[in-house]
Amino acid sequence: MKTITKQKSLDEIERQLAGLDRVFIVGCGTCTTVTKTGGIDQVLEMKERLEQMDKWVSGWTVIPTACDEVTQADVKEYGQTIKDAGCVLAMTCALGVHRLNLYVDRPVMPALDTMFIGVEETPGRFREACGQCGHCVLGETAGVCPVVSCHKGLMNGPCGGTNYGKCEVDKEMDCAWALIHERLQAQGRLPLMRMYQPPRNHQVVPRPRATRIS
Ligand code: SF4
Ligand code: SF4
Repeated sequence: MKTITKQKSLDEIERQLAGLDRVFIVGCGTCTTVTKTGGIDQVLEMKERLEQMDKWVSGWTVIPTACDEVTQADVKEYGQTIKDAGCVLAMTCALGVHRLNLYVDRPVMPALDTMFIGVEETPGRFREACGQCGHCVLGETAGVCPVVSCHKGLMNGPCGGTNYGKCEVDKEMDCAWALIHERLQAQGRLPLMRMYQPPRNHQVVPRPRATRIS
C-alpha cells in the first residue's frame, strides 16, 4: 500500500519558488521512491532543473519515511544547511509536507501532487484501494470497494450500463459491481447484493476529521 503522487509541472514549481533562490530538497525513501517521484534519482534530476532555473540548491536528502516522526531527527542533521536555504522543496506526499512543516522554520513547498492510497496490482501499476470514506462496507461487498472501484461511486449497484462484466464508463475496466456479484456468489453470500446502502449525508462530516485513541 503506497501513497501515490505525481510531480507538479516545472512551471508550477517555479511559480511556488518565486522570490526564493536558495532551496533544500527533501525526498522520501518509502512511497515516492517506489513511485519514482521522490527517490534519489528524481531528487538529483530536480536539483539539475532548479539549477537551470538559476536556483542555488544548498543541499538535499532522502529521508527514510518522510511522514514519520523520525523526520525530526533527519531534519535536525541538516539544520544549518536548511537554515541557509530560503525554503525546502518536498518531493514527498502531502503527509511528508505536513511533517516537514512541523520541524522546519522555512517555507516547505510541495513538488508533488498527492493523489490516492494505492495497491500495486502489477509491477508499476497502482490502483486506488480505499478513499477513507469513514464507513467501510467491504464486509458486504466481498472486499471490493464501491466508493473507489465503481466509476460512479455507486453504493447500490450495478448501474444500467454494466456490460458483460465491464464498466460503461471505461470499457477496459471491470465493473466493480460485477466483481462484487462474482465474489459474493463464490462465497455463497449473494443475497447481500440486495442489501440497501442508505445515502450518506456528507454535509455532517466535520473537517478536519480527528479522533482520540485512548
Ligand atoms: S468503503 Fe471503500 S472507501 Fe470506505 S473505508 Fe471501506 S474501502 Fe475505504
Ligand atoms: S458499469 Fe459498474 S463500475 Fe461502471 S459505473 Fe456502472 S456500476 Fe459502476
